[in-house]
Amino acid sequence: MTQYDTLTKTLNDRLAELTSRVRQIDENLSQPLDADFEEQAVDLEDHEAMEAVENAGMLEIQQIRRALARIADGSYGTCARCGEVIAPKRLQVLPTATLCIGCAR
Ligand SMILES: [Zn+2]
Repeated sequence: MTQYDTLTKTLNDRLAELTSRVRQIDENLSQPLDADFEEQAVDLEDHEAMEAVENAGMLEIQQIRRALARIADGSYGTCARCGEVIAPKRLQVLPTATLCIGCAR
């Protein structure tokens, strides 16, 4: 057991959830548009909304992968810029934070 076991599990669960969501969106986006023009307009709006969700999801996936890598190499919890310890409270709110509150500003 290490102090980050629970966090690692939480992050991995979240990663799996995001990965399957992004995959679903990808499948939806690769569907051909409806032939009917009005349907197409709706589809296009849906596409934009889905793409926004997909992009946000992919960004979070990257952040989670980075956090997991930092847990693995032992640098998790220290600021990537100044090397100071990131406040535990900050990590509770934002587990993927790589900067301390001072450097994040
Ligand atoms: Zn810092």
